[in-house]
Amino acid sequence: MNKSFFRALAALLFFVLILFGGRQAQAWSEHPLLIYPVLKSMPVVANAPEVEVKSLLTFLLQEEEGLARMLAGQEAWARENIEAYAPRPDNLAFVATGNAEDILQRFFYAIRIDPNVKMALYHHLPPGVDGGGREVISPYELTTLDKLTEMLHSTYLRLHEGELIAPILVLASANNEPDYGFDLGLFEDNNTYWGKLYGFGEQTFGNPNLPYGTQAPFHMGFYHEPGIVFAAAPFLKRTFVEYRINLYQTLAEYAFAAGQDYWGYRFMGWAMHYLGDLSMPYHSSVLPGVSALRMIWINLKAMIGFPRSRDNAVQLVSNRHTVYEQFQWLALKDAYEKGNWEHPFIKALENPVEAKPYDHTFPREVVARESYKKGKATTRAMKRYMPKKLISDPKFEVSDAAELDNLLDYMVAEKGPEGIEGMTALIAERFSAYSMHTRSFVTAMLERN
Ligand SMILES: [Zn+2]
Repeated sequence: MNKSFFRALAALLFFVLILFGGRQAQAWSEHPLLIYPVLKSMPVVANAPEVEVKSLLTFLLQEEEGLARMLAGQEAWARENIEAYAPRPDNLAFVATGNAEDILQRFFYAIRIDPNVKMALYHHLPPGVDGGGREVISPYELTTLDKLTEMLHSTYLRLHEGELIAPILVLASANNEPDYGFDLGLFEDNNTYWGKLYGFGEQTFGNPNLPYGTQAPFHMGFYHEPGIVFAAAPFLKRTFVEYRINLYQTLAEYAFAAGQDYWGYRFMGWAMHYLGDLSMPYHSSVLPGVSALRMIWINLKAMIGFPRSRDNAVQLVSNRHTVYEQFQWLALKDAYEKGNWEHPFIKALENPVEAKPYDHTFPREVVARESYKKGKATTRAMKRYMPKKLISDPKFEVSDAAELDNLLDYMVAEKGPEGIEGMTALIAERFSAYSMHTRSFVTAMLERN
């Protein structure tokens, strides 16, 4: 293959990838709804004693020296072991200075997240559960995003330092937090002051102009595309999801060893968010269901002046990603609201596929590999079970469509109940896999000894 051919493919992929973002870059919507049924059926979590709520500031002040050592070790490990890693600049290393004034900022710089993150003390209330008259906290106190969608439908209850709380609530609440702005604006071309400090270079893919667009390379991992795709577009390897998982896992292990169980569970919940993202087919594959040869063909046509097939493919994949996620969210939320614990999603989350033990290669070699393989079947099922306009009309932009609000009714009207059943079975398969991934990680973290 000659050079101009590769350049052509790279141009196509770049075009594809700048369209990631917007509403669909979250993978699963409302992660706590997925993780509750999994954790509830694990005695090591469900029966764990309550832990004392502590602010991040208190935790950091108590653990400053130990954290400095631990983070230095984690950075050395990441440089050695993570492919396409972007080393943390040395001047951002967390150093124990004893200064309480800037300790939060020093910590956020060292773990390279948006320094404006909120870190409130709260927990996420599952739909259909009564808050017992406790004080509700606004989602705007939890996230740095100013345009909220799903979060406005959830209830969050305030916690206070020193209170006791069940670990399952800490894990499940924390499990959504990486979508509250942690990974926004981290690249040097994102027009943020922290992006210029963090050493992640220019944004590899994802649309920098969309609210969620800049987090894409931290929540997606492309490891299993054909070699020709990576040869043409080596930047696809620059994803940072393995870094996030290892960093938060290491922080959690440190906190547990130090007897700081609240932060142990909270950091652990963050790591599990990223692991969960990879189990979603649209987060482990560039264009699910489109072969490398087809990508090349439609791009060649575009190069000689017929860009329509290429533009259509990009729009369709973006629409399907959004519709898939919306169906998952609506159907799962509905099961909670109705107390339908026999729903196939809940059953799938309670019944994992056969376990594989967790190690640091697991996110890539188990989670992303399985989910990449599901790309084709996902596309096929969506074509069969979803209203045509939403997933097969390239002139239609689905992300702000009114049809999404009543997606389930719309599906029944066009495809009958088989549509709902077919999509439910498709996603239930992913949920059984997700259940196993979560369990393996929890087992590695909490049942090691
Ligand atoms: Zn995510």
